[in-house]
Amino acid sequence: MQLINGKEISAKIKEDIKAEVSQLKKNGVKVGLAVIIVGDDPASKVYVNNKKKACEALGIYSEEYALPENTTMEGLLGLINELNGRKDINGILCQLPLPRHLDEKAVINAISPEKDVDAFHPVNVGKIMIGDYDFLPCTPAGVMELLAHSNIEVEGKTCVVIGRSNIVGKPMGMLLLHKNGTVTICHSKTENLEEVTSKADILVAAVGKANFVKANMVKEGAVVIDVGMNRPEGGKLCGDVDFDDVAPKCSYITPVPGGVGPMTIAMLMANTVTAAKKQNNIKGA
Ligand code: NAP
Repeated sequence: MQLINGKEISAKIKEDIKAEVSQLKKNGVKVGLAVIIVGDDPASKVYVNNKKKACEALGIYSEEYALPENTTMEGLLGLINELNGRKDINGILCQLPLPRHLDEKAVINAISPEKDVDAFHPVNVGKIMIGDYDFLPCTPAGVMELLAHSNIEVEGKTCVVIGRSNIVGKPMGMLLLHKNGTVTICHSKTENLEEVTSKADILVAAVGKANFVKANMVKEGAVVIDVGMNRPEGGKLCGDVDFDDVAPKCSYITPVPGGVGPMTIAMLMANTVTAAKKQNNIKGA
């Protein structure tokens, strides 16, 4: 069994991004990201802080807008509109989930597709569907990078994704399909889940349930990618895969923490640079 080290792989990717940001700066292009957070969700605060730190480390200019829980739609859309119009802000990200009284769909739709570095806007989702995209959603893109950096071939492989969310499961399936995998997406209504998952050469778990995937659900020699980030009450951060149970059966497996998580941020940084290059008509974007 080989461990896929997301920390190491993301560090290499970030080194390249840092060099590119510095080169762009020399050519007069400053890369900028605006991050909006509404309310006091502790996990969201951690994610936003990590994004801010990553920007600082890579030389990307960042602005954080920490808005109170009682922010109105009008106020939030007003801010997004203002950021859409700013030349020094290339990427806009609104940390989800939003407080219940806010319309998440309307917020996603309000972000200009050119600045939508999360790739959640319907225009970008549609582009991903037809395989002609500027940005990929950060977590699935991070998984694809982990596979590529580990020289794991997707073409022709049986790929199973557990989870069908718009931000992870569905685009994950699409990216594996673009790489010529034979893809099945499972969800809470899937019958005989174990039977389906145990056929997977590549199994991606994005369920949101701690230690959900057990050894009996995994094929001998499978590649297992754990997207889950669960914080059981009082317990440590853990994934959707029962690592100790599953790892002995795998050819490759990602740990939690240190697997997919660090890749998500690296991909966000990469998308922000792509946005800056596109907005400044720089080739290679
Ligand atoms: P989500 O929106 O809650 O989706 C969970 C999916 O799992 C749903 O499609 C659900 O099916 C399916 N599911 C739930 N119970 C199931 C069961 N018993 N059998 C089969 N499928 C089941 O979650 P998400 O946003 O995709 O996130 C998934 C996990 O990834 C979470 O732990 C999250 O924290 C983590 N995450 C990590 C990163 C990262 O950077 N590493 C980024 C994003 C998310 P239905 O559709 O039928 O309800």
